[in-house]
Amino acid sequence: MDVIKAPFELSSGQRIWMTASIGTSLYPQDARSTERLLRNADAALYQAKDAGRNTYSSYTAELTQKAKHYLSMDTRLRNALDNNELRVFYQPLIDLATGRCKGVEALVRWHDPQVGLVPPMDFIPHAEQSGLIKPLGEWVLQQAIADFQSWLAQGIDLGVLAVNLSPRQFTEAGLVQKIANILADKHFDAQRLELEITETALISRGDQAECDLHALKALGVSLAIDDFGTGYSSLAYLKRLPIDKLKIDRSFIKDLPDDVAGGEIVAAVIAMGKAMHLEVLAEGIETAEQQAFLKQKECTTGQGYWFSRPLPASELLKIYRTSNQPIPQFA
Ligand code: C2E
Ligand code: MG
Ligand code: MG
Repeated sequence: MDVIKAPFELSSGQRIWMTASIGTSLYPQDARSTERLLRNADAALYQAKDAGRNTYSSYTAELTQKAKHYLSMDTRLRNALDNNELRVFYQPLIDLATGRCKGVEALVRWHDPQVGLVPPMDFIPHAEQSGLIKPLGEWVLQQAIADFQSWLAQGIDLGVLAVNLSPRQFTEAGLVQKIANILADKHFDAQRLELEITETALISRGDQAECDLHALKALGVSLAIDDFGTGYSSLAYLKRLPIDKLKIDRSFIKDLPDDVAGGEIVAAVIAMGKAMHLEVLAEGIETAEQQAFLKQKECTTGQGYWFSRPLPASELLKIYRTSNQPIPQFA
């Protein structure tokens, strides 16, 4: 690594710096065949790259376990997509002043016939890594729009439909065109669609994020920053980017109203959102006290188990039908 690190000159006179990532596997303790040794070294190399590159890593048996787990998860998830084992649940977004439903967030679930219901946190990060998130995310968008359309056709208007976009989806070439095509195909009103993006996705995209968001915005959809406060929360991007909504992360809500510092942060974000004409939604409201606190700080929108857990479409409609209101009322 030290040798490679030294700069060298191309024939054009340009100076070049390189770094190396190295994976090692030892004979005979790690493997006895050439093929195995190389495969193990390759696994170690990937670990070195994962650790930020310009470093080295040695093979361990655990790496093989990891690779096996990764492969089996990948196959299972691919099958899940093919065999229709994915479901979309919906969680209401509530107008805190009136308790009415202003929209729903689509949240994916995996119904694995062997394991049961797998939460997204157990497979979304994996799908992100393997690239499966692209077909998976597209499926969620298609399914959620189809559900929402069928509700509208039955005269049921739940407001806006919020769909999560993961960082990898956000950087996908042709994403804007893909969404435009889906909207056109399904004759879905773009103003009904809200895309949720995390701060991390924006930061990793750098200056390109601004172009991407403007292109998405030009479709007529609205944009929300998900899990606000857990990433870099750059004030510069809030000013520059065409964002409509901030979703304050549940970690700031969960200890309210006792958590004084958390309360101050939440109040400040609400005030800032108001000044910047952004809608502010509090995630993860679980108690009446949290709701009261947020209402008092003039937070306009909320979401959480206190109002409703994410529900399958059929259960959501049951609530809607029994509520006897043009717009269902929660809490
Ligand atoms: P998120 O977008 O921030 O979604 C909110 C999460 O908080 C959901 O978890 C929801 O069930 C949970 N939640 C809502 N209210 C409460 C509450 O009062 N208390 C607690 N403890 N939790 C509450 P879920 O459904 O497990 O999803 C987790 C994350 O997985 C989502 O976080 C989102 O980042 C990701 N995800 C879910 N569906 C999709 C999808 O279709 N595509 C992508 N790219 N990501 C998704
Ligand atoms: Mg979300
Ligand atoms: Mg969130």
